[in-house]
Amino acid sequence: MAKVIYDRKNCIGAGTCIAAAPMHWKMNPDGKADLIGCKHNDQTDKDELELTDPQEIKENKEAAEVCPVNVIVVED
Ligand code: SF4
Repeated sequence: MAKVIYDRKNCIGAGTCIAAAPMHWKMNPDGKADLIGCKHNDQTDKDELELTDPQEIKENKEAAEVCPVNVIVVED
């Protein structure tokens, strides 16, 4: 089990997360990426998505690595 944590308000819309993990990320017309299927955590003001599939976890770790402003974190 891993959790993707996304600080959407600080996304700059670079889109590299979408290239790394296209099943989980898409560009929103507002210019920021959406983490597909996430839930918003009101306490932290971040979006969260739990993953169990090793391939999906790997792809999202790659998305976290390529994000130029480090707004994606994957916690194992
Ligand atoms: S790579 Fe980072 S800054 Fe770029 S769209 Fe994805 S989350 Fe936003």
